Amino acid sequence: MTQRVIAFICTLLLICSCSAPPVLYSSYYADPVVDVNVYISPELSNETQLNIVAGIMLWERSLKGLMTWKLVSASMPGNEIMSRKPIQKRYVTFDITSEQETWVVKYDNTHDSRLLGMYVGDSLQEYATIWLIVDRLHNKNAETIIAAHEFGHALGLDHVEDKVSVLSRLYAFDVNELSKFDVREFCDHYDCSR
Ligand SMILES: [Zn+2]
Repeated sequence: MTQRVIAFICTLLLICSCSAPPVLYSSYYADPVVDVNVYISPELSNETQLNIVAGIMLWERSLKGLMTWKLVSASMPGNEIMSRKPIQKRYVTFDITSEQETWVVKYDNTHDSRLLGMYVGDSLQEYATIWLIVDRLHNKNAETIIAAHEFGHALGLDHVEDKVSVLSRLYAFDVNELSKFDVREFCDHYDCSR
């Protein structure tokens, strides 16, 4: 009986180890390299707030511990997390604006575009505000993807040359995880291997 149980456990372990998927950047997935305080303006609807959180969780899920974040109740530094290694901090505010807003109209005219979201950061890339033009975002997916894309910029990341990445130059509305290009952009910026 004991032998059968052991045999069963061994088989189970074997199956588990054989079926583990190969993980990109597996040696990197240890300590966080960046911690983000996120403040979401209460002027955004509850539904939009949830969609923004879903956009941030897309990053969290795909980065497997490389990025930590928390919601804070004011757009100011809160309690810092403890880390064995130096860790970068980011403070990100999500706010609302409208397509009637003068700077939005001006941007559209200058760039011959229809602005959906905008990231504005300080020169040290520590503080960022993400403006969502919510009267142009008509579904949950659009809000989540635009929040995720702009959040990438708020982390200091640039566009990637791929059409189905979160950081694609044009929003890719049907993605629900980071691509290898997104992860590479993140790891190049934060030196995940250190
Ligand atoms: Zn962009």
